[in-house]
Amino acid sequence: MIPNINYGNLKESYLFYNIAQKTKAYLEAHPGTHLYRMGIGDVSLPLCDAVIQKLHEAVEDQAHKTTFHGYMPECGDPSLRKTIAAYYQKRGVILSEDEVFVSSGASDELGDILDLFGKEKTVLIMEPAYPAYVDANVIAGNTIIHIPAGEENGFVPMPDPDVSADIIYICSPNNPTGAVFDREALQAWVDYANKKDALILFDAAYEAFIEEEEIPHSIFEIQGARTCAIEICSLSKTAGFTGTRCGYTVIPKELIRAGMSLNQMWVRNRTTKTNGVSYIIQKGASAVFSEEGQKQIQDYIQIYKKNGAYLMEVLNRLGIWYCGGKNAPYIWMKCPNGMGSWEFFDYLLSEIQVVGTPGEGFGACGEGYFRFSTFGSPEDTKEAARRLEILLRKIL
Ligand code: PLP
Repeated sequence: MIPNINYGNLKESYLFYNIAQKTKAYLEAHPGTHLYRMGIGDVSLPLCDAVIQKLHEAVEDQAHKTTFHGYMPECGDPSLRKTIAAYYQKRGVILSEDEVFVSSGASDELGDILDLFGKEKTVLIMEPAYPAYVDANVIAGNTIIHIPAGEENGFVPMPDPDVSADIIYICSPNNPTGAVFDREALQAWVDYANKKDALILFDAAYEAFIEEEEIPHSIFEIQGARTCAIEICSLSKTAGFTGTRCGYTVIPKELIRAGMSLNQMWVRNRTTKTNGVSYIIQKGASAVFSEEGQKQIQDYIQIYKKNGAYLMEVLNRLGIWYCGGKNAPYIWMKCPNGMGSWEFFDYLLSEIQVVGTPGEGFGACGEGYFRFSTFGSPEDTKEAARRLEILLRKIL
């Protein structure tokens, strides 16, 4: 038996391992020190009341013969699919229920969706990038074209007509940079994909953090996207579902390649490879889209936004270049005085006990940049921002 030898091509992911090792060593050398953890990509607030109430109800349903649910439909509970389609409609995006697939989260889908594309595809990944895009494609044996982004384009690269690919990843709002693609940039990518017969995988995991009216939340707000895009979304950051697990994927019926409907292929894929998301979780997820749920999750998102504001105010006062923060839970700053991103990590840890994420861990062009997450506690974030300002004033 020969295993999938592509696993041998995966690069060891040192990023979070190294961070854990360095913080552990620091704590061993300085026992009892409190660390200000601004590196986390996980939420810190609990599920909102509306969701908790529905989860309790669903557990109770499972206790009685008359309300018990066994296997759920593989592509999602029809009422949740309808609810999600209605959520899109509020922004003028018309979807039919059977274009919405309920999932166990975006990570699962980002990997599984590659089943639709056959072997030896060319994939365009804009970097710095969420590491799972690269690894899923290495495992699938695809060829990756790395498109570096940088300060000159605000970390929002535009298509190059001389480059062709089968699959294009776009993440907006972006992890790690927090940058967003505006309507014009997305239109350019959609036109490019349609022209090249390519397919966009649009990762909208952070759409709920967008506050600027004119920034699209969905690729389907862009004309022509229904013939070239799949959207992958998650309730993880929107509604604190990182440990509860639910998301959704939108595959329009116009997505036809070689006479085959990608929507129908995904129905077949799901009915083969999953038995759906649990009844309890789907019922809890439905509450996210209720009027009450939407208000409650926005209250939580505003707490994270305020964390972002503490950090952005400091960077503004110091005149340090950064992007993100406004429409995303991440702030991507340029390391001061030409420091490398690991050098800056060590400096913050040793001087002010603040832990962030070195940009280099998200691709080579992230070197020299640093990511702060706004998912920490307000008290810690405020104190971290205060310490950062005092420290950087000394060296700038
Ligand atoms: N996509 C991006 C850009 C993310 O940052 C994350 C998680 O951090 C995910 C997808 C995964 O989300 P989920 O928890 O739904 O698997």
